[in-house]
Amino acid sequence: MMVSAIIPVHNEEGNVIPVYRELKEILQKVTTDFEIIFVDDGSKDTTLDKLLSLKSKEEKLRIIQFKKNYGKSAALSAGFDNAEGDSIITLDGDGQDDPNNIPNLISALTEEYDFVCGWRVKRNDKFLKKTSSKIYNFLNRVINRSKIHDNNCMLRIYRKEAVSDLKLTKGAHRYIPTILTSKGFRIAEIEVNHRPRLTGKSSYGFKRLFVGFFHLFRFRSFTRIKQKSVYVIEKKYGFEE
Ligand code: UDP
Ligand code: MG
Repeated sequence: MMVSAIIPVHNEEGNVIPVYRELKEILQKVTTDFEIIFVDDGSKDTTLDKLLSLKSKEEKLRIIQFKKNYGKSAALSAGFDNAEGDSIITLDGDGQDDPNNIPNLISALTEEYDFVCGWRVKRNDKFLKKTSSKIYNFLNRVINRSKIHDNNCMLRIYRKEAVSDLKLTKGAHRYIPTILTSKGFRIAEIEVNHRPRLTGKSSYGFKRLFVGFFHLFRFRSFTRIKQKSVYVIEKKYGFEE
């Protein structure tokens, strides 16, 4: 079974190298057949340089570069489109998601399920973020009949079929479980560890609260919304063209 890991990054210069190394060490224990895809979402710092400095020595590393900041949904879509694995893992690039939970995610992806989502039972975030996230998850359960506790934990594993043609419009990454269950994919949730950011600060501010609220209603009738591709890949490193 080939595994692809996708990591969207925006201004994570202090984090990409330690995140890559930790993830590689864990994936190596699970399989020899894996790739790690970083999608640089228009970083303005040295994130891309840091990744390119690893590229010559690291054959498992692949990089997708956006020249402009298209957002996390576009970055994930680009990763899904280009991943070659039978199973696709996603995680954030700031070190908050703990890759030590990946073996558990893999074992939880039994025949009964198409994707397994992490549930950050003890979140390592500020009070405002934790509280707003609890409210969103509650509303998502009521409005979108979401079955899970944590709709925005990126530490997940998907069968390739679930995400191979998933084009996420802006902001849609917060509703992937809703979108996929509405398409008939079967979901499971397991508890995962959540850590503080390694370095740097979150790309999202207060505005996210309002944008996220708007999207709650948008995805209620998601299946009727025509999806369109929203990103342009500027450059790919380490891909066979
Ligand atoms: N991210 C991205 N594009 C953006 C904003 C964020 O690719 O426009 C990445 C970011 O670098 C990180 C992940 O998405 O790897 C989660 O972002 P962040 O840690 O800022 O979010 P939070 O933990 O506050 O939800
Ligand atoms: Mg974070």
